[in-house]
Amino acid sequence: MKTTNRLASLLVLALTSQLVFAVEFETTKLSDSLHMIKGQGGNIAVSAGSDGVFIIDDQLAPVTTDLLAEIRTISQQPIRFIINTHYHSDHVGGNEAVSKKGSVIVAHDNVRKRMTSEQWSNFMQKSVPAYPAGALPNITFNDQATLHFNGESATAYHIANAHTDGDAIIHFPVSNVIHMGDIWFNGLYPYVDLDAGGNIRGFQTAVTKAISLANQSTKIIPGHGPLGTLAELKAYAEFINEAVKNVEALIAAGNSLQQIIALKPTAKWDETLGKVWIKPDQFVTMLYNSLVGINEYKQ
Ligand SMILES: [Zn+2]
Repeated sequence: MKTTNRLASLLVLALTSQLVFAVEFETTKLSDSLHMIKGQGGNIAVSAGSDGVFIIDDQLAPVTTDLLAEIRTISQQPIRFIINTHYHSDHVGGNEAVSKKGSVIVAHDNVRKRMTSEQWSNFMQKSVPAYPAGALPNITFNDQATLHFNGESATAYHIANAHTDGDAIIHFPVSNVIHMGDIWFNGLYPYVDLDAGGNIRGFQTAVTKAISLANQSTKIIPGHGPLGTLAELKAYAEFINEAVKNVEALIAAGNSLQQIIALKPTAKWDETLGKVWIKPDQFVTMLYNSLVGINEYKQ
């Protein structure tokens, strides 16, 4: 319960960026060259070796100094590259400070596009201002990009319209690690950011892709929550597929969104996944709007 509460508060902080408290980092070694860092914001991957350091995502802006100190406990080498999994502030918040020290930022085209203008979220009921030039990705890609670094390749695969419209999952075949970005909220309902081009269909595509890249010993980094396994990712895929089917059937039977919410099509998971952040009625709304093509969060 304590872990759940802490996760909830971290998520709220991460997603609203309104509060800052002393950050506790937790670093886990995944392979000779890869580590995962949990802190305040999205989970980070750190590749460290003879070529230097590159990181996937960089959490919230106010914790960057502490985050850099944590990365220094893994390697003193300069951070040469950052890959952003998507544009949310709990994943790109350190971009400006880290790039000032010489890092090159890599992300999908739509990450840069969204970061260059003010973004309104119906779900959050708030807007995020445009980022300064120094925080923007320097290299963007449309489909996939591979970084050859520290003796292995890291391939970022873009998944269209999933958590947002600019998501990438990153695969390290040698280390046998996959970073899912916010395609996977491990232990809680996922956030489908309809206001930023998200759609539950993209989650299905992304999870299918990740499963095709993984084997029994793959370590899978979720955007939020604890490190996962292939078996856990498969269970997550089954949950999404079943929830989609349930809502699809109710739409086909002619029910309105309010009727579908009242029928509780996600009841099976509400106790385990619906208590931490995204509530059952919100998740059902995200499913419904995705499936009928409403491109914003609206109940
Ligand atoms: Zn996100």
